[in-house]
Amino acid sequence: MTSDVIERLKAAEPELIAIRRDIHRHPETAFEEVRTASIVAQKLTSWGFAVHQGLAKTGVVGTLKGKRAGQKAIGLRADMDALHLQEKNAFTHRSTIDGKMHACGHDGHTTMLLGAARQLAVDPDFAGTVHVIFQPAEEGLGGARVMIEEGLFDLFPCDAVYGMHNAPGLPVGRFAIRSGPMLAASDSWTAVFHGTGGHGSAPNRGTDPTMPAASFILGVQGIVGRNVPPTDTAVLSVGHIAAGAFNSPNVIPSDVTVRGTSRSYRPAVRDILERRLGEVARSTAESWGCSVDYTYQRRYPPLVNTADQTAIAIAAAAATVGAENVDGNAAPITGAEDFAFMLEKKPGAYIMIGNGGDEAGGCHYVHTPLYDFNDEIIVTGAAYWLNVVQQELGAAAG
Ligand SMILES: [Zn+2]
Ligand SMILES: [Zn+2]
Repeated sequence: MTSDVIERLKAAEPELIAIRRDIHRHPETAFEEVRTASIVAQKLTSWGFAVHQGLAKTGVVGTLKGKRAGQKAIGLRADMDALHLQEKNAFTHRSTIDGKMHACGHDGHTTMLLGAARQLAVDPDFAGTVHVIFQPAEEGLGGARVMIEEGLFDLFPCDAVYGMHNAPGLPVGRFAIRSGPMLAASDSWTAVFHGTGGHGSAPNRGTDPTMPAASFILGVQGIVGRNVPPTDTAVLSVGHIAAGAFNSPNVIPSDVTVRGTSRSYRPAVRDILERRLGEVARSTAESWGCSVDYTYQRRYPPLVNTADQTAIAIAAAAATVGAENVDGNAAPITGAEDFAFMLEKKPGAYIMIGNGGDEAGGCHYVHTPLYDFNDEIIVTGAAYWLNVVQQELGAAAG
């Protein structure tokens, strides 16, 4: 990238910071990103993008053709949604909406892609088409999946898609990525154990669902230890237990609900978790004369970067910050991300950009009340996007 482009991004930095802080002040949660989407659409339109609104309610797609002819099209994706969380920061751009907060930095993601979009419009020196995709509802509700279901890739065919997320604990000016599985599949499961319950003084007169529930909770960890191949990895955690009444410790409850989350990186391992959780739940229920209703909800698939596009992302990051600042073999993360749905459909790569701090700390993690996106990295992130476009559609691309 020419220093000229960096200079123009730098010149736009104060305006980009103002956009970022404005979005931060007005956080909007899943599928309600009306204000944010209208800012995005208005800016893209004013810069000469063809703008489509309404996919997954508040999704925005801007399309720009390069000044040179080319058949190839790529998608660059940012997320726009905030979290249900009470912000505890005191700075002037803190959230103005009680109970809502941009605690995952999607305000920054939106801004970095806007910064790149504007520069692309100023100088569309590429061959082919760039679609900038601004999606709603990344946090838990699968906005990417809904956009795809509503025709994202039919309306805007893409040969490859790219995503980016900020990483607190990764220093400013650094990128991290890996080829293959990078983020986990995130699923939920529920087992409701049923027995007769009864008087706590006479358990022999009925069946007690707390027995299989307790045994199941311990047995769950055996699935990871005994059924998941040792060279793979998985996480099973119980997050919710409910039974009986606090004021009735002398009553054996008739139902015990156990809910949890499961994380895995490969479809085969995901299948093992779904099947074995059910088997362990049913067999423990049966052994205590109880029954169980077991459900497994597949939420986010594993996020799998394809090799060719990972190489492109690494080259783009290296062109932005120098090869020595790009970790191309980063450790997988047990978090999940709904960009995984896009990567199920298209080749692509998802990269982490350092938000500051280091592994020892010195920063607030995402989803915590004192987190804030680091404005220092906006230009770096926008430059990365421009380098992806150059790698994919630039003069040197083939
Ligand atoms: Zn998040
Ligand atoms: Zn996020």
